[in-house]
Amino acid sequence: MNDKEQMSLFNLTPSEVPLTELPQADRVAETLTDKKTARSPKNPSPAASTSVPVSEQFASLDDLRDVACNCQKCPLAHTRTNVVVERGDRKAKILIIGEAPGEQEDLSGLPFVGKSGQLLDKILESVGFDTNRDVYICNTVKCRPPNNRVPTEIEATTCKPYLLEQIRLVDPKIILLTGATSLKSILGVKLGITKVRGQWYEWEGRLVMPIFHPSYLLRNQSREQGSPKWLTWQDAKAIKAKYLEIIELKSGDAPALSDQSEGDFEKSAALSAQNPSVVSIEEDEEF
Ligand code: SF4
Repeated sequence: MNDKEQMSLFNLTPSEVPLTELPQADRVAETLTDKKTARSPKNPSPAASTSVPVSEQFASLDDLRDVACNCQKCPLAHTRTNVVVERGDRKAKILIIGEAPGEQEDLSGLPFVGKSGQLLDKILESVGFDTNRDVYICNTVKCRPPNNRVPTEIEATTCKPYLLEQIRLVDPKIILLTGATSLKSILGVKLGITKVRGQWYEWEGRLVMPIFHPSYLLRNQSREQGSPKWLTWQDAKAIKAKYLEIIELKSGDAPALSDQSEGDFEKSAALSAQNPSVVSIEEDEEF
């Protein structure tokens, strides 16, 4: 995928759907406590289906993995090396959804293990999250599209039951949507990621925040205030704060945000900026 195609995923034009039509999560604690469902009545897309029929549900994530690893339901089955299902903690309270496997992911069978994944890990670590313990990571589609192209609508829709079942079985409190494709898959609407990133939305009784895809951050090395990296740092802090709020940890029960954490993030961002190979995304495409 070339630069132009990449940037098109971060549509800077006004959103096609007014933000007011998405359910805002301004009553978070109450919602999560009561397990209310707050599907937007105006949710307009059939791709926004939010559950799998009971008869087609999996009994466990192991069952899901077994079936997905032999899946032939869409054309991506013919070009993949491995089906990329998951990594992280299956009981995590935070679930992160990317777009599709890239080359490294296709070869390893694990999501977000290339340079983008390494940056994602650093972002999470900067606010005290351990990616093996605190998050569960998956993609919108489980097989790599040829040449890292964007998954087609049919591919995303065909693969979506696996994603919905992962969400049901992991049962996270927080879902992070990295980039435009996962945003569209879950919220069912086409929105400019720059418009909605950092905002909390409510989806099926869960908190959802769209964030920039790490690949986008690798292309945008500025750390100035207002830059994508700076904005992502603000998002990471907001995610950690909400996580602590949700699990009602008292002070001292979990790593607190600190100046040192921000320093770590800035340090990793600086290292990325100094390393030309990091911005060579042709070999590490996950969009
Ligand atoms: S992308 Fe999803 S639906 Fe398509 S073959 Fe892979 S697992 Fe099956």
